[in-house]
Amino acid sequence: MEPYTDLSEDPTIRRLEAAVTEARAFFGIDPLWRTPVQAKMRAGAQIDVRHGYLLAPIEVGLDYYQNHPGEIRCDMAHEVAHLVAHEVLKVQQGMPPEWQYASEDARGGMLTAAIETMTTRLELLFMRERPE
Ligand SMILES: [Zn+2]
Repeated sequence: MEPYTDLSEDPTIRRLEAAVTEARAFFGIDPLWRTPVQAKMRAGAQIDVRHGYLLAPIEVGLDYYQNHPGEIRCDMAHEVAHLVAHEVLKVQQGMPPEWQYASEDARGGMLTAAIETMTTRLELLFMRERPE
């Protein structure tokens, strides 16, 4: 275990957090989700979605973003977009074991509902981005 270092005032962490906040607002992510930025990687970024806890830490390579500040906004938008896609994945992962015996129609219905939620989010995104 590395000694704890307080990075809350680190300018690169602040920029990463600001980019996450901007992307969350853009994609309409539920405010109940927590998405802390954690300096845990060598390079790049990776979101660790823990659905049952409404927690999705975004692990980043701090040195990498200090040296590549131009990558911050697109990479944070990418990681936050994983939360949108996760709405479909969680349905499949959340199916209880007995659902393996459920009909294709029933399972398909759950996936259809999840895809509808994601699609509606993308539609709202389009309308915000391209207002009349
Ligand atoms: Zn990805």
